[in-house]
Amino acid sequence: MRIVLIGPPGSGKGTQAALLADRLGMPAVSTGELFRAHVDSGTELGRQVAAFTTSGDLVPDDLTVAVVAERLARPDCRQGYLLDGFPRTIGQAERLRDELAARGIALDAVLELAVDDEELVRRMSARRVQVDGVWTTRADDAPETVRHRLVVYRELTAPLVDFYRAAGLLVRVDAGGEVDEVAARTWAALDRSSAQQPGAAPPHGAGEGPR
Ligand code: ADP
Repeated sequence: MRIVLIGPPGSGKGTQAALLADRLGMPAVSTGELFRAHVDSGTELGRQVAAFTTSGDLVPDDLTVAVVAERLARPDCRQGYLLDGFPRTIGQAERLRDELAARGIALDAVLELAVDDEELVRRMSARRVQVDGVWTTRADDAPETVRHRLVVYRELTAPLVDFYRAAGLLVRVDAGGEVDEVAARTWAALDRSSAQQPGAAPPHGAGEGPR
């Protein structure tokens, strides 16, 4: 299975991606995390990436696609993966589609995590992450940067919703509320979407959810 999760910053994408990937037994590939790992290890790539991530701008498509391609080529992605934070522009989505098509495969579903703006800003200003065992705020969670990331999301990433709706892949999930409520809704949404795919194999057992 190949699944894409899209949603604005603060929608809980990373959290839900990890839960869902775990449940499906496949890796969650997060571009944000891949980039943060490069920044933290001080590589040349990390230096280039940090120029964009710290201001809340998107990393250029060529660089992003190269990082993702390298990750998806690893053996653990052979049976499927969940993409968290990629694609984030129409250009990235087209390159992903063409890359997969060249190998005769397609995405199974695109889940859109929907949350209203007020809740997003509230969640992100309260967000704490662990770095080397210490709880801290993410450098790009400063209020001005959060607002900028939301603007970037509306402008560059939100058009993907129509792109994937047109491709018949989009499933919207209400991502307001507690983590486990959203996880249950996400699971149910995926179940609905695999049921919608013509010729798709049914889920394992009744009520058990998607493969
Ligand atoms: P969030 O979804 O909360 O913004 P992420 O961890 O997904 O957080 O991303 C953090 C930052 O990494 C983004 O603001 C952006 O600068 C960069 N980034 C992540 N994914 C992409 C992508 N697909 N294309 C370009 N830049 C990206």
